[in-house]
Amino acid sequence: MSDQPALQLRDVSRHYVQAGEPLRILRKVNFEIWPGQSVALIAPSGAGKSTLLHLAGLLEHADGGELFICGAATSHMNDKERTALRRDAIGFVYQFHHLLPEFSALENVMMPQLIRGLAKEEAGRRAAELLEYLGLAHRAGHRPAEMSGGEQQRVAIARAVANAPRLLLADEPTGNLDPKTADHVFDALTQLVRATGLAALVATHNMDLARRMDRRVTLEEGQVVELP
Ligand code: ADP
Repeated sequence: MSDQPALQLRDVSRHYVQAGEPLRILRKVNFEIWPGQSVALIAPSGAGKSTLLHLAGLLEHADGGELFICGAATSHMNDKERTALRRDAIGFVYQFHHLLPEFSALENVMMPQLIRGLAKEEAGRRAAELLEYLGLAHRAGHRPAEMSGGEQQRVAIARAVANAPRLLLADEPTGNLDPKTADHVFDALTQLVRATGLAALVATHNMDLARRMDRRVTLEEGQVVELP
């Protein structure tokens, strides 16, 4: 299935209205990410990074153009179809992990799989495998409060990929961590992308981390522009 981009934007536009004036954030953007590619999104605050991530995550609608997930056009989908596609094909990692505090690391990673209808045993097996892959086997039974920030964020990454999505969207996933821990979490993320053929779009301010990704893009005057 790698003959289709995991994410493709064709002439996608998005504007907001502020004080009665249109604020044109994305202007006929053309952009794609292929399976196995990691792309860093680096742009100043207010440039439209969250807007792009929300559109790619089917959390917002474009005003115009077409957005494809794994080749499927999304603009004419109803809410139910968008929700199903988001659940099956897209994983999210945020700056703050949003793990459920009452549940263990293992249970947190099982949760999206159970919601999708997987049997408990199967979900548990996959969750344990992912935690082990991310170097967290010894933390499987711990609640978020009993783990370090870097560990919590790695659990959040495991949760995001638990349903084997095709596209991973991350908004400053290491923005809340000290540099060494950020480094470690980032390594875990990029390794996972390469090993699984996922496509990843990661908003970050950290140029060192961005350099380790396959591509770097920025937003300029409503366009996605490739950086060297
Ligand atoms: P970034 O993530 O790069 O900081 P955003 O995508 O959050 O940028 O926002 C881009 C611009 O759009 C900002 O100027 C912001 O104020 C504006 N904006 C974002 N969301 C809305 C909204 N719901 N209504 C009006 N303006 C918005």
